Amino acid sequence: MHRFFLPGPYNTPAAHLDGEEAHHLLGVLRASVGAELVIFDGRGTEATARIVHIGKNAADLEILERRQSPPDTVVPVTLGTAVPKGERFDWLVEKATELGVTRLIPLLTAHRVVEPGANKLNRLRRTIISASKQCGRNRLMELGEPTPWHAFVEREFRDAAVLVAHPGGESLASLALPMNQPLVLAVGPEGGLTDEEIDLARRSGGRIVGLGPRLLRVETAAMVLATMCCLR
Ligand code: SAH
Repeated sequence: MHRFFLPGPYNTPAAHLDGEEAHHLLGVLRASVGAELVIFDGRGTEATARIVHIGKNAADLEILERRQSPPDTVVPVTLGTAVPKGERFDWLVEKATELGVTRLIPLLTAHRVVEPGANKLNRLRRTIISASKQCGRNRLMELGEPTPWHAFVEREFRDAAVLVAHPGGESLASLALPMNQPLVLAVGPEGGLTDEEIDLARRSGGRIVGLGPRLLRVETAAMVLATMCCLR
């Protein structure tokens, strides 16, 4: 059944779909009255619904059954990552959504390459919704504001187990990941994290982890870390 993002709460039997999601349902899929679909609120609830009336690019729905989803990961996973160029970042955001990353924070580092603007961030929010529709995720991945490295360390390292990817760091395979503490992951830019940035991370309790002998692209490093930490 096709899935549509519709913010909740679904606390009455009636719901109303319009905008881009209605366009997908009516304009692209050409659904008619009586058809059933799945709606999800982006916060962990999904529901089966039926189309009861179709208006101009809008559909009235009757909610048939609501379901609450289990958490996407064992512990919340925050991924702080430098922003690779162009479509590589869209790809990274889509894959992080599929893997179940709770929150993605674009990082501004000393060797920064790209700072995503408001338009780009809004487009990425659509990417997160599309990926969630496609992969069956009912909680949207949060997309944070671009954050300087020092602010990221100060704000996010406090109550979490932190893994910072850096060539030559301790082997990721030998680390025991906590089951009862949020995880924070960090990936630097193509130019790498500076000695100062690594020092600050280490002093603030971050573990510096290596991801094998080759230099990985930002998005590859991000996917390796996210995979190890989300799928367990
Ligand atoms: N030019 C840098 C590499 C940057 S790669 C250098 O020579 O060190 C971009 C980011 O991906 C890095 O900052 C790091 O966070 C991650 N990364 C890439 N390859 C890695 C590896 N083998 N081990 C750990 N982290 C890696």
